[in-house]
Amino acid sequence: MNSSKLIDGKAAAARVLQKVKQDVLMLKADHIQPALAVILVGEDPASQVYVRNKILRAEECGIRSIEYRLAADCPQARLLDLIAELNNDASVNGILLQLPLPGHIEETRALQAIDPGKDVDGFHSENVGGLSQGRDVLTPCTPTGCMYLLEQTLGDLSGKHAVVIGRSNIVGKPMAALLLKAHCSVTVVHSRSQDAKALCQLADIVVAAVGRPRMIDASWLKPGAVVIDVGINRIQDHDRSRLVGDVDFDAALAQVSAITPVPGGVGPMTIAFLMKNTLIAAQQQRQRALAHSQPQEAVCL
Ligand code: NDP
Repeated sequence: MNSSKLIDGKAAAARVLQKVKQDVLMLKADHIQPALAVILVGEDPASQVYVRNKILRAEECGIRSIEYRLAADCPQARLLDLIAELNNDASVNGILLQLPLPGHIEETRALQAIDPGKDVDGFHSENVGGLSQGRDVLTPCTPTGCMYLLEQTLGDLSGKHAVVIGRSNIVGKPMAALLLKAHCSVTVVHSRSQDAKALCQLADIVVAAVGRPRMIDASWLKPGAVVIDVGINRIQDHDRSRLVGDVDFDAALAQVSAITPVPGGVGPMTIAFLMKNTLIAAQQQRQRALAHSQPQEAVCL
């Protein structure tokens, strides 16, 4: 395998986490302990693993994590009360509501209840709107991690043609908005697109976020394209189950200039940027608190 073409997400995530750790130490020197509240409703096994990993990473970075486990049949009002409590708790900087939620809870209502300044997943409409206006807001962790990998690989993205395959609220749409903010020309392809392959063949950058194993083979890719594969699909390969992306990695390798593997590409970046967002939230809250405590200058008319 040509390893020079590999975009190593594990190594990149380790660099991001190392920097977060250093910055957390600086805050601690000022007697500020960044804290992340993680709320898990129900007992979905995959969600339990994700939450455990997030809490472990937080501890490694020196971020205090507080876990709230609510029963699967917990009334929506109880969840909203907890979110309100955490919004009002100055010692909590970030709030993460693990998705998916049980069916009786309205996801949008719960996400909208989170203080946008503590919304470390970047899903609140104020942050979504801010991103689409090109403002500096908390942005969703997975696409933000993809941007980091692209900028590390290509440097300035300005003027590149990027094709994003998938338009979900958590990956495809924020990814497109971030690429646009970085001055790319962006095409978004989805299940209703006509001739997605032809659109993809024009791309300097391909971000695949579909959830279909190896849907994109070499014939979809322009020679020299840079490919970020967000997809995580479990397949049965001979007698064992394994993870593959949305891109046929082995076939694509000869065609591309760089590509993320699955696993070990985008996956580790998501948690790394959750930690980074928690740090940013803590820094912004501190700045706001400092600004509040400054004596107001007299206004001379
Ligand atoms: P969704 O199912 O929410 O969205 C999938 C998107 O793919 C939809 O917009 C859909 O179009 C589009 N799509 C489906 N079929 C086609 C097709 N044949 N051609 C073009 N577009 C198509 O998935 P997510 O965005 O949540 O996740 C996508 C993948 O990324 C999954 O494999 C998921 O596991 C993975 N993921 C990985 C993360 C990580 O940390 N690495 C984090 C989050 C997700 P339409 O809107 O028209 O239905």
